[in-house]
Amino acid sequence: MIELKLTIKLKQIYKETGDDVASVGRGLYVVNTGLWRYQRPVTDPDLCKRCSACYMYCPVGCKIELSTHYDTDLDWCKGCGICAEVCPANAIKMYEERGDE
Ligand code: SF4
Ligand code: SF4
Repeated sequence: MIELKLTIKLKQIYKETGDDVASVGRGLYVVNTGLWRYQRPVTDPDLCKRCSACYMYCPVGCKIELSTHYDTDLDWCKGCGICAEVCPANAIKMYEERGDE
């Protein structure tokens, strides 16, 4: 399902931009990596200490600093779970994607 979404998204981008992307690698660079996700991180604002560890370790840089806590831009989050692993406050839990959103 995720591969199908990715293919559809790539075709949309090629059509909209007229870009003759020659390689899959270059194509993936412009595709929202959130399409790859099997799990999503959910942050409990009450537990977050705003230490920014999740922000620093996220490999795609999709953590967002809010006034109360750090949240996630799900357009880019790949669901790797690193942020949940490094959070010293145990404020981030990973939940399985339902695939229907
Ligand atoms: S699950 Fe991975 S990609 Fe998503 S916010 Fe956490 S560290 Fe970043
Ligand atoms: S690592 Fe945990 S406590 Fe630190 S900013 Fe991120 S969610 Fe908050």
